[in-house]
Amino acid sequence: MNNYKIAVLKGDGIGPEIVDEAIKVLDAVASKEGFNLEYNEYLIGGSAIDVFDNPCPDETIKGCLNSDAVLFGSIGGPKWDNLPKEKRPETGLLKLRKSLGLFANIRPAIIFDELVNASTLKPEVIKGVDLEVVRELTGGIYFGEPREKTDDVAFNTMIYTREEIERIAEVAFEEAMKRRKKVTSVDKANVLEVSELWREVVEEVHKRYPLVELEHMYVDNAAMQLIRNPKQFDVILTGNIFGDILSDEASMIVGSIGLLPSASIGGKVGLFEPIHGSAPDIAGQGIANPIATILSAAMMLDYLNESSGAERIRKAIKEVLAEGYRTKDIASFDAKEVVTTEEMGSLIAEHASK
Ligand code: NAD
Repeated sequence: MNNYKIAVLKGDGIGPEIVDEAIKVLDAVASKEGFNLEYNEYLIGGSAIDVFDNPCPDETIKGCLNSDAVLFGSIGGPKWDNLPKEKRPETGLLKLRKSLGLFANIRPAIIFDELVNASTLKPEVIKGVDLEVVRELTGGIYFGEPREKTDDVAFNTMIYTREEIERIAEVAFEEAMKRRKKVTSVDKANVLEVSELWREVVEEVHKRYPLVELEHMYVDNAAMQLIRNPKQFDVILTGNIFGDILSDEASMIVGSIGLLPSASIGGKVGLFEPIHGSAPDIAGQGIANPIATILSAAMMLDYLNESSGAERIRKAIKEVLAEGYRTKDIASFDAKEVVTTEEMGSLIAEHASK
C-alpha cells in the first residue's frame, strides 16, 4: 500500500476549519482507493508567531522538506497586522515558498455548471470556463532588491532573470500540452523593460512547443478580457504581481474565492492551498467554504500520482453541488440548503466514499 507523508500547515483564521474538512475528505478517499496518508502538523503564520516569535520556524521548513506534499490553509489576521514586516505572517509564507523552491503557482478556475448562478457575471459568459493561471511565485516585485521606504519616498524593484522566466514559461507550456494547447502570456511590455525580456524569453521557450498557440496580452487588457470573454483563455502565463491580481479576478468568474484551489510546484515538494486568505471576518463562524481547500487536496493527489482519488474528490463535489447544497458564499436562489463548513466537508466525504 502506498504511504504518503503530508505536512499539514493549518495556519490562522479559517485555515484550521477548512483544512480539517479537506483531511476528512482525503481520509475517505484514501480508504476507498487503498493508499495511506500520514499527517504531521507544523505551525506557520500568526500561530507560529504566538509560539516561536517567528512566522516560519526552521522546524516547519524541515518538516515540509521531509514530506511528500504540503497541505496549507491560510495565514494572517488583524492580531499580527501591526508587527514589523519581517515578523508578519505574510513574510512567513513568502519565506516558506522561497525555502521550498516553489517558483510556479498553478491556479485552475473551472466553473461548475451547478454554480453558474453564483457568479456576478451572466451565465452565458461564464458557462464552460476552464482556464488556468500559471503565476511566477518567487521572483518579481515581491522579492526584488533594492526596496526601501522612508517618510518621503518608497520604491520596489521589479526584476526577472532569463532563467526565472524560462522555467515558469516551461511550466505553462507543459500545462497547455495537457489542456487545449494555448498560452496567453500577460505582461506590460509597452512600458516595462522587465516585460520586454519576459516576452523575448517566452518566445524562445515557445519554439520548443510548436503545437501550442502563443499570444501576448498586456495586463490591463487581460483584466478586461477576463470579464468580457473568459472562455477565450486556456493557460494564462504571468509574473508574480500580475498573477496575484488576475487570479483573484478569475475567482469571481467562478463565483467565490472559496472555490479556487492552487498548487505550488518547482521544488522537492509541492504545496497545495486555496487561493484565498484567512478571512478573519468570518473565522470561527462555521460559514467558510471548504471547497477551495478540498480541490487543493485533489490537486495534491494528482501530484502524488493518485489521480483516481483526485477524480473521486472532484466528482463528489459536483454531486453535492448538484444536490443543491451550498455554503453561504455561494448560496443563490437555486440553493436547496445552506450548510456549514463542517456539513459541506462531511457531504463531500460521504460522496467520495461511495
Ligand atoms: P481573504 O481572502 O482572507 O478574504 C477576502 C474576502 O473573501 C473576505 O470577505 C472573506 O470572508 C472571503 N473569503 C475568503 N475565503 C473564503 C472562504 N473559503 N469562504 C467564504 N468566504 C471567503 O483576503 P483578505 O481579507 O484581503 O485578507 C485576510 C488575511 O489573509 C490578511 O491577513 C492577508 O494578509 C491574509 N492572506 C493570506 C493568504 C494566504 O494565506 N495564502 C492569501 C491572501 C491573504
